[in-house]
Amino acid sequence: MSNDNSSAVEACVFCQIAAGRIPSIRIYEDEDFIAFMDIAPQTEGHFLVVPRAHYETIADMPDSLLAKVMPLARKLGRAASDGLEIAGFNLLQNNGRVAGQEVDHWHLHLIPRRAPHEIPFKAGAPADLTRLPFVAEKIRTNIK
Ligand code: AMP
Repeated sequence: MSNDNSSAVEACVFCQIAAGRIPSIRIYEDEDFIAFMDIAPQTEGHFLVVPRAHYETIADMPDSLLAKVMPLARKLGRAASDGLEIAGFNLLQNNGRVAGQEVDHWHLHLIPRRAPHEIPFKAGAPADLTRLPFVAEKIRTNIK
């Protein structure tokens, strides 16, 4: 869903933040994106990179914005690394409720990391090697 749906935009907390109608602690803005501190951070310094326009998931995002967002994440990641003196960071981007997306306005998380186990990401179980080629084929044959 894109920003032609005005009722969704009115109801969207990140659209309201972009418009300055809900307060946020901003660290960056340009003509396409804003970045502001997450209100419930996974770690200290966790922030979000958000397009000004309303797009729900990565499927809705135009290529032109997606092309800009990784260079911006790198730039802001360098700033976080230098300013917070962190050893690393995670970039996280959730698509769909089942994947943990709570706010239906596309956003990229930048989560500073200071220790290996401060966020409970689990290592995966070893793959079933009899099944893996068939799972891969289901993806491969649907690349458009
Ligand atoms: P996600 O689960 O990927 O949709 O992430 C949504 C993120 O937005 C969560 O980390 C929330 O803590 C954050 N969030 C929600 N409302 C606000 C807000 N008003 N200001 C800053 N961050 C917010």
